[in-house]
Amino acid sequence: MTDPAGRDAGPLDPARGAGVSFPGNRGLAEGDAAVPAFWRGLGLPGLADVHVHFLPPRLLRRIWAYFDAAGPLVGTEWPIRYRWSDAERVAYLGRLGVRAFSALAYPHRPGMAADLNRWTLDFARNTPGCLPSATFFPEPDASGYVAEALAAGARVFKVHVQVGGFPPTDEALDAVWGLLADAGVPVVVHAGHAPVGTAHTGPEPFAAVLARHPALRAVVAHLGAPDYRAFLDLAEAYEGVRLDTTMAFTPFLDRLVPFPDDERPRLRELGLAGKVLLGSDFPNIPYPYADQLAGLARLDLGDDWLRAVCWGNAAALFDLA
Ligand SMILES: [Zn+2]
Repeated sequence: MTDPAGRDAGPLDPARGAGVSFPGNRGLAEGDAAVPAFWRGLGLPGLADVHVHFLPPRLLRRIWAYFDAAGPLVGTEWPIRYRWSDAERVAYLGRLGVRAFSALAYPHRPGMAADLNRWTLDFARNTPGCLPSATFFPEPDASGYVAEALAAGARVFKVHVQVGGFPPTDEALDAVWGLLADAGVPVVVHAGHAPVGTAHTGPEPFAAVLARHPALRAVVAHLGAPDYRAFLDLAEAYEGVRLDTTMAFTPFLDRLVPFPDDERPRLRELGLAGKVLLGSDFPNIPYPYADQLAGLARLDLGDDWLRAVCWGNAAALFDLA
């Protein structure tokens, strides 16, 4: 099988499941060589990536196994490319020039989030460039541990409506949305149907949250794929709503849920207004990191737009030096 970028994708076998090997001598993996030249050419100090995953290693291995098996919530062949140790992935982000990044963890059942937050906040304390990141799940102690995470310095949250299988309007989350709105701390929300919709994904349930908490600073993951138009509407309607580019415009996602060409003007306006941020889903992607940047560049929305999306908008949101 050959993917749309023309690379030989190969069958889903153990060798392929192993991903690419970690390059020695400060090198970059196949496909990523042009990344540093990309941001240098734009005159940027590097990249800011709001959608990066770091999780406790045992949990991350289970997630990779789920992707390997193309589980029901994945729905398509999805060989993880960067299945390296935490230290290798941190080093690699540095080589790519990703100067600021999140460590998004997310629970798939109750009773996990508080432990995940201890892990991710500790990880950020020991990892230069990593934004202190936290998560939550609808459960009785959610507002308690979210308040604790905020007090401990959390600067970005993640909530995964698709994997979590809960409605974002769940009553147990109402106080959490309120806490985040009051604190002005952004939350990356996987609210869209992609890659496989559930009963609670899509624009409507999350629009109901925004109607109740209009000051919420939300970053809609994957540009809301596949409901790009409706999520662009929300970003226009609410001052606090932003979008991350995660996986959008890559050959991989274009094949499944392409972004509508006629929405490029709105995407340009929103990007220049601070509302579109680079996200990648590193390391849980089945293609080179460079594909994300190449996809953004191919949109041909101008260098100012690329500078805003790849650095400036996150620098403003997170007060990066
Ligand atoms: Zn993700």
